Amino acid sequence: MCLMINNLLDKLYSERTLSKDEFISLINCPKDTSEHLRSLAEKVRIENYGHDIYMRGLIEFSNYCRQDCYYCGIRRSNTSCPRYRLSFNDIAECCREGYRLGFRTFVLQSGEDPYFTDDRICKIIEAIKRDYPDCAVTLSLGEKSREIYKRFFDCGADRYLLRHETANKAHFKKLHPENQTFEGRMECLQILKEIGYQVGCGFMVGSPFQNAECLADDLLFIKKLNPQMVGIGPFIPHGQTPFKEYSAGSLDMTLKMLSIIRLMLPGVLLPATTALATIDPRGREKGILAGANVVMPNLSPVKVREKYQLYDNKVCTGEESAQCRSCLEKRIQSVGCRLVVARGDSKNI
Ligand code: SAH
Repeated sequence: MCLMINNLLDKLYSERTLSKDEFISLINCPKDTSEHLRSLAEKVRIENYGHDIYMRGLIEFSNYCRQDCYYCGIRRSNTSCPRYRLSFNDIAECCREGYRLGFRTFVLQSGEDPYFTDDRICKIIEAIKRDYPDCAVTLSLGEKSREIYKRFFDCGADRYLLRHETANKAHFKKLHPENQTFEGRMECLQILKEIGYQVGCGFMVGSPFQNAECLADDLLFIKKLNPQMVGIGPFIPHGQTPFKEYSAGSLDMTLKMLSIIRLMLPGVLLPATTALATIDPRGREKGILAGANVVMPNLSPVKVREKYQLYDNKVCTGEESAQCRSCLEKRIQSVGCRLVVARGDSKNI
């Protein structure tokens, strides 16, 4: 079956999509053709973004969450998770330090924490846009109403990350409690697009119950949504969740998905995620070689980093991460690229 794979790769490269069955064949095909896929994806990344890698400063400002996703370590039912919130001043300090280090995009991420009312979030967005007008603000705060998304946008937020988690409805139900619906998640993404945000969707590779068909559904959904960013990383089990016994997603499958997405959406922004760096010591570098062009190091104060535990053994939570910048710079140079000081807007518009 895999003899056909080179034809499929050529078709994916020239037509930028495949049928569902063709995606399933590509997904099921073992490792031996992965170098061809990888090198095509790297070529397309270079054609679109050169050797530039953008960096985003991730500020995880609260791990309180009203939702109860079965895979996530900060889910509401995890009573052994020590909860924290950053103050307005803490967040301002993260941005000050981040700006000094060359970050020109700040990503505000949290659980769905009711303490952070719309007014509080707007105040934070406005302050960042006032103090750093040359920077982009990305939000990753979960599901909100159209009115609230619009308000944040009008306050100056540029981008919104909301992973769809899985584009297969039956699979979605296995990852979430009943009150969190597939339709609700998808509608949020649609609304974010309509409002005019640069939108990011995404999914975990190797989440429990995922099969090749689910991944093919993810790819076709991404093609249709045509987002500016796609965040994907391996699922990693967390010991205090219902999925603690499941194994982590694989490095190879994650890299394969990154490469396929680069070929489908040549101008998309594609991060080499922290989860990827967590399952492999050279995960970020391998992600870049597979077509990724963004890194999102943690800018949260060191004292709270290990409390934002979506999964076990997350990297860069300790003191030694020393703001990651120089260590990251060396890693990125080792794969022929350079970290740039820029907002790094998407070329997929
Ligand atoms: N509350 C926000 C941010 C969620 S955390 C929201 O709902 O969008 C960001 C992402 O981390 C999630 O979308 C999910 O895809 C990922 N994540 C959560 N638990 C994980 C795990 N155990 N392994 C890997 N990734 C995980």
